[in-house]
Amino acid sequence: MARKRLGVMGGTFDPIHHGHLVTAEEALWQFELDEVVFVPTGRPWMKGDRDVSDAEDRYLMVVVATSSNPRFFVSRLEIEREGPTYTVDTLRDLQRQHGEDVDLYFITGADAMLEIFHWKDQEEVLSLAHFIAATRPGYDLALFERGAPTEHPNVELMDVPALAISSTDIRARVGDGRPIRYLVPEGVQTYIEKAGLYR
Ligand code: NAP
Repeated sequence: MARKRLGVMGGTFDPIHHGHLVTAEEALWQFELDEVVFVPTGRPWMKGDRDVSDAEDRYLMVVVATSSNPRFFVSRLEIEREGPTYTVDTLRDLQRQHGEDVDLYFITGADAMLEIFHWKDQEEVLSLAHFIAATRPGYDLALFERGAPTEHPNVELMDVPALAISSTDIRARVGDGRPIRYLVPEGVQTYIEKAGLYR
């Protein structure tokens, strides 16, 4: 039986936007993945500098945004785990859930990826999954090369022009009353309005 190739899309998703969805679809295609599971963070790691929206709101926005894609799934793993979110724990849990016949491909933004490599033993982390670091236009590749084991076969960079969209910008736009239509899926925009997020 062929091994399953599972994409794991980690992020705070506050909120999820079209840049994230394009990233997951591009990884699905480039790395011939069978499916991608989105894993919204529970208690965000080292985010003392700003209030992060409630995990249930972020989770529900991801469900709304991904529901029309038959190969996208959403996991509550990190939301339900106690304590701060560490990617290594998530990868170990997913490996346990799916058994030996799965290969994990962890996908996230390049800056967040640097944090993961910085804080944990790189060899241990690299033994758990392939890592796909998504970059937005203008990203300083030298920064990534200084902090990540780019020569390792399990580490890949993926340029995603659609990541010019950012969650930070979307939150600021909502706060200022500027439009976010076409930056996020319609259902996510409606959810933000109904829940009164980012005001
Ligand atoms: P972040 O610092 O909020 O984001 C860093 C950059 O990456 C931002 O530009 C962000 O853009 C982008 N980004 C985040 N998730 C992305 C995704 N799935 N696809 C494409 N770009 C993405 O990062 P974060 O959201 O807190 O963390 C991202 C993931 O890394 C989470 O799964 C987190 O648990 C993990 N992480 C783990 C550790 C650790 O284990 N020690 C440390 C740090 C992060 P947007 O703001 O537009 O999303």
